[in-house]
Amino acid sequence: MTIKTINRLHQPPLHGSRLRPVTQSLLYIFILLFSMYGYAQKVVHEQFLDARLEDKLDNYLAVAGESEAQAKALLADIVAQVSTDTPLITRVRAIAYQASELAYEERFEQAYALLDDLRQAANQVGLADAQAEILASRIDFLVMEGKRGDAFLLVPRLERLLDETRTPRIRYYGHNLLSSIYVDWERFDSALQHLLQAQQALGEMDSSLNEGRRLYLLSRIANIQISLEQWDAAILTVEETVPEAVEKGYQGLAYDLWFSKYYAEISIGDYERALQSLRRAYQLAQELEADYQEVIILNNFGDTYLRLDRFEQAREHLLEARDKAEALGFDEMLSTIDFNLGFIAVKQGDSLGIKQMEEATQIFRDSLSQSELEMVLGELAQAYALIGDYAAEAEILRERIKLKERILKDAQLEKMTELQAVYKSRDDAQQIELLEQQNELKEQIIKNSEQQRIVWILFTAFSAVCLVLVFLLYRKSKRANQQLNRANEQLADQSLKDPLTGLWNRRALQERMLDRARSLDKSQDGLLLLDIDRFKQINDRHGHAGGDKVLTELSKRLQNICRDSDILVRWGGEEFLFYVKGIKQSSLLQLAERILRTVAENPIKINDELISITTSIGFIELPFADLSEQQVDWERALQIADMALYTCKARGRNRACGVTELLVDYDTACNALEHDLNEAMNNNWITLTVIEGPQQ
Ligand code: GH3
Ligand code: MG
Ligand code: MG
Repeated sequence: MTIKTINRLHQPPLHGSRLRPVTQSLLYIFILLFSMYGYAQKVVHEQFLDARLEDKLDNYLAVAGESEAQAKALLADIVAQVSTDTPLITRVRAIAYQASELAYEERFEQAYALLDDLRQAANQVGLADAQAEILASRIDFLVMEGKRGDAFLLVPRLERLLDETRTPRIRYYGHNLLSSIYVDWERFDSALQHLLQAQQALGEMDSSLNEGRRLYLLSRIANIQISLEQWDAAILTVEETVPEAVEKGYQGLAYDLWFSKYYAEISIGDYERALQSLRRAYQLAQELEADYQEVIILNNFGDTYLRLDRFEQAREHLLEARDKAEALGFDEMLSTIDFNLGFIAVKQGDSLGIKQMEEATQIFRDSLSQSELEMVLGELAQAYALIGDYAAEAEILRERIKLKERILKDAQLEKMTELQAVYKSRDDAQQIELLEQQNELKEQIIKNSEQQRIVWILFTAFSAVCLVLVFLLYRKSKRANQQLNRANEQLADQSLKDPLTGLWNRRALQERMLDRARSLDKSQDGLLLLDIDRFKQINDRHGHAGGDKVLTELSKRLQNICRDSDILVRWGGEEFLFYVKGIKQSSLLQLAERILRTVAENPIKINDELISITTSIGFIELPFADLSEQQVDWERALQIADMALYTCKARGRNRACGVTELLVDYDTACNALEHDLNEAMNNNWITLTVIEGPQQ
């Protein structure tokens, strides 16, 4: 039986802790090139990196190749310097290395706990690089634990994260890991793709280890070619790679390459060449002091010679392998060697050999993988045939068929897991797409509402501006109207008022009289016509301005006597007219007397000189003597009052006179009333009431 050590990570009998003591160098290659470690040289997320600690971590990797203990101490020192303040990518790298050490010691729970803590921090920041390194480590540990299905379920997620990862070191690690997982699942096309991506990431890294990594990737390509049974291509890849590996001193790698070449050659039946390759591998294993590998190679020599029917040489190598395995305590290998020795015996006609093979097979039933056991059972069946025990041969073949069925069933289960992973990945992708769509929708809604908000703001602002404009225009027009009204009022006032005294003028009285004429309710009113006595003298003494002053001052005093319903008019130069609404005759007389007193008793000051003035008043009731106003209108009545005023002047001034009674019919007295009151009095047609002013 041949031992194939191509895919060393996942080859069950040669995997795990037993291989690690084999040699530091192999471990170096194993850890350094295959797994997560790499130099972080050129990274994009500088803010997530701590350059000083990154250097230390690089140094840790270099030391890890030489001394496990020293490396462990270094890492402990680095981890002690890491805190939650450490930039995320560096922190994840350091803690993931720490978790890796725990995983190698099979302290998986602790390793996962560290990753869980990291994942929380990475998810909070949402940094794909950190998330990818954490997930890759988890997958790595699951593979180490032998949980291939669980590991495979996480593959699509890692693939998505790696698409977003910018740190070359993490991409190199992740794609390498994915490639080996796909090899394990015999998905060689995907494995190759990831190797190419790892190669690309390598191109972006700047490290003294890159050369080794490049050769390592080539050796993996050779392995995949072998898995694809592309024997010639694999041999070619090895032949192209191995000289450089040897020359550059990558002996571990060169060993792997020679071993791969051996396996390809033996698979195509080129046993001679296979032996040559195996010799080269053996030589390197010796140089590397890889004792366990030496045992495997010696066994494979035995197997190859067996195929060539060179039984002596076969036995010789197998016995040597046996001695070494015993010395190393490499018990699993002992069964393989014994099985092969037994087979030689059988081939040489020694039926006892079958016993040896049976015993070994019994052990294999517990220790080997199903496919390996299936191979063993094939050879055992051959052996039974050789010794002519066809019943045993049939039984083994039946077992082999059952095993094959189980392998098939397991393969189907694996396929299902794979399908599940693919489905999950699609589901995840759909969910992501859905979330993205929802996000887009949300963004669109936000955008729309933003636009609506802007439109609303613009509309509101526009409305506000319009309102303000309308308000300003309204205010302006209102002001203009007010000004206009005021101007109109002023104009009206000006047209109805006397500019010197501010009293009403003749027009105002005429209008008022028109109103009165229109009114149905005619009240008993009174008219008093005033004339300042000897006003010419005042003008003469105090000048025209002094006369004006007398006029304005007198106006004020007369205004004080006026009621709201009365009208005081400047009738002419120094003549005033009272129109008094709703007044009885007796009150009219009292009013006349009051005016006489007010004027006479309140001298007016002109240029510090007090001037006493008197006035004469002709008064009349309206309507006059209960006559209709058609007969005696206000103007005729005023004419009679003027006559009464004239009478005052004639009788010595400072008095009021009024015709208070008509003793004859109007037509008789009409002419005398308007032109000569003396005549009317002499004929006894009227009663003239005279009120004397206060004594001067
Ligand atoms: P009497 O009425 O008592 O008979 O004497 P009188 O001096 O007042 O005589 P008359 O009525 O004839 O004279 C009025 C004078 O008033 C004539 C004019 O010069 C003067 N006068 C008229 N209007 C104004 C005015 O607005 N200002 C001033 N200062 N004098 C005026
Ligand atoms: Mg006069
Ligand atoms: Mg006068």
